[in-house]
Amino acid sequence: MRTRFKNAETSYIATSKTNFTLVFLFITIFLTMGAAKADEKAKQVVDSVILAYGGDKLTKLKSLRVVDKTQSFSYGQSSMAGDIDNELNQTSVTLDLQNQRIEYRRVRGDKAHFTIEHQLFDGNQGLSIDHSMRTVEQNKGITYLNADRNQHLNLDTALVLLLLKQREQAQYTGTQYYRGELHDKLSFQAEGYPKMTLLVNQHSGYVGKMMQAHWLAGQFFNYHFSDMQQTKGIYYAGHTYVSGDNKPLELTVSRKVEFNLDTTHSFTQPAGYAVKEQPIDFSQLKATKLADNIYLAGSNWGFSVFIDTGEYFAAAGGYFQLTQRFEAVKKLANVDKPLKYLVVSHHHSDHLSGMKEAAALGASFITVKEHIGAIRESAGVELPDNRFVTIDEKGAFADGKLQVLDFASSHSNHNLLTYFTDAKLLFSADLFASHQATGAPRATKALIDVKAKLVDAGFKVSHFAAAHSGRVLTAADFHQSIASFTPQVCPKGWQICHD
Ligand SMILES: [Zn+2]
Repeated sequence: MRTRFKNAETSYIATSKTNFTLVFLFITIFLTMGAAKADEKAKQVVDSVILAYGGDKLTKLKSLRVVDKTQSFSYGQSSMAGDIDNELNQTSVTLDLQNQRIEYRRVRGDKAHFTIEHQLFDGNQGLSIDHSMRTVEQNKGITYLNADRNQHLNLDTALVLLLLKQREQAQYTGTQYYRGELHDKLSFQAEGYPKMTLLVNQHSGYVGKMMQAHWLAGQFFNYHFSDMQQTKGIYYAGHTYVSGDNKPLELTVSRKVEFNLDTTHSFTQPAGYAVKEQPIDFSQLKATKLADNIYLAGSNWGFSVFIDTGEYFAAAGGYFQLTQRFEAVKKLANVDKPLKYLVVSHHHSDHLSGMKEAAALGASFITVKEHIGAIRESAGVELPDNRFVTIDEKGAFADGKLQVLDFASSHSNHNLLTYFTDAKLLFSADLFASHQATGAPRATKALIDVKAKLVDAGFKVSHFAAAHSGRVLTAADFHQSIASFTPQVCPKGWQICHD
C-alpha cells in the first residue's frame, strides 16, 4: 500500500503544481499513519496468537509430526459419473523446522486395498520412493514446501509457524464473527505459498479459520479448526475441516501430533533401493507417426492417438490442448481432414478437459450413455443428441479400423479402451503408462482384468499408447508388468498402514 503511494507521489511531483503536491503529501501521510496503525495491530494479534499456541515453546520448536486419518471427497474423479466418492486417507508429515527437511507418507484406502505414497525433501533434494518397486527417484519438483502436497496446511500450528516468520509483513484487515465469536482478520503471504487470511479468536488467540483463494474466481478454500489440544505446552486443533468452492473436501477423523521428536531416521532413503532413471522429458508438444495412418501427439500428461481413415480423422484421448495435438498431426501427415470422432475414455475431469475443443472441432463423441451428461457439462456448449455415439460393451467404427471396448474397474465404472486394428495398437487411460525410458511399469489388479478383456475380444495387441504418456509400451512390457504384479505391501516400520 505505502510503496504504491510513494511511486505515485514521485511521478506526480515531477509533472504537477506545488499546491496539488501538498494535498497529495497530506493524503499520503494520513494513509501511511493509518497503515502503520494497522501494522501495529497486526503485530499485536500475531503476538497474541504465538502466546496462545505456546509462546517460547512454539518459537523454539525444532520439529513436529502430524499423523492424520482423514475422509476426503472426490469431485470429478469418482468411479461413477454423477456420484461423489469418499476416500479414507492416512497421512504422516514430519517437519524438521531447523534444517528445512520434510517427510510425507500417505496410505490411501483401507487395510484390504491401499496405495502408498512416500516423498521427502532431505534438505538438498526431493525424493519419491516406491516401496513396491524398491526404487528411489530424484525429483526436482519436490521441495520443502510441497513434498507433503500441502497437507501441513491442515494443521493450525503449522500456519502459526508460517505467520511467526511473517510478523513484520502481516496485515490487519478488521474483524469478523465466526461461530458467533468476534475474530481478528490477518492476511499474510509466506514465501512459496498463496496469500492466506486467518481468523483469530479475540478471546483465545486460536486460529478458527484460514482462507485461501480458489482457482475458480471468487471462490475460497476454507480450513476450519476446532477441538484444541495441547502436547508439551504447544497447542493445536484436534480437528480440521476443509471446504472449497462451497463443497466439503476433507475432514479429520483422528489426529496425533508430536513436537520435538527424534527425526534422526526420518529423512533418509531406505537402504538397498535402486535409483530410478530420470523420466522422459515430455514438456514439448510432439507428433509422431506410429504406423500407417496412425499418429501419436501430446505433451506432459496429455496424449491422443489419431487415425487417418481416408475420409476423416478419428482420435482417442480427450485432454486439453486437443486442438494443438490435432494441428500437429495434420501438419506431420500433411493433410487436412476433419476430426469426425473422439473416443472419450472416461468421465474424470482431467480426461474431459478437451471436450470444449472437441465440440468446436465438430467431432462426435464416442462414449457410453452414462457419461453424456459429464461430457456436455465439460464442453460447456449446447450439444445435440446426434453428436453422441454410444456403445454398449463394444463398438466398431471406420470399417472396423477402430474398435472400442467398455472396461469396468474401481477407477471408473466405464473406461473405454480404443483398439486401432491394423496397427494392433491399444490406447488406454489411467491403466498402463510409464514416463521412464525403459522397464515395465508396476501393474495394478485392473491390468490383469484388462488382459482378460483383450483375450476375450480377440485383440492381439502389440503396442500400448496411453493418455498420460508419450512412451508406447510393447506387448513384452505388458506381460512383464503382469508377471511381476505384487499386491501393495506396507513398508517396514510404517505404523500408519495398520492403524
Ligand atoms: Zn481417471
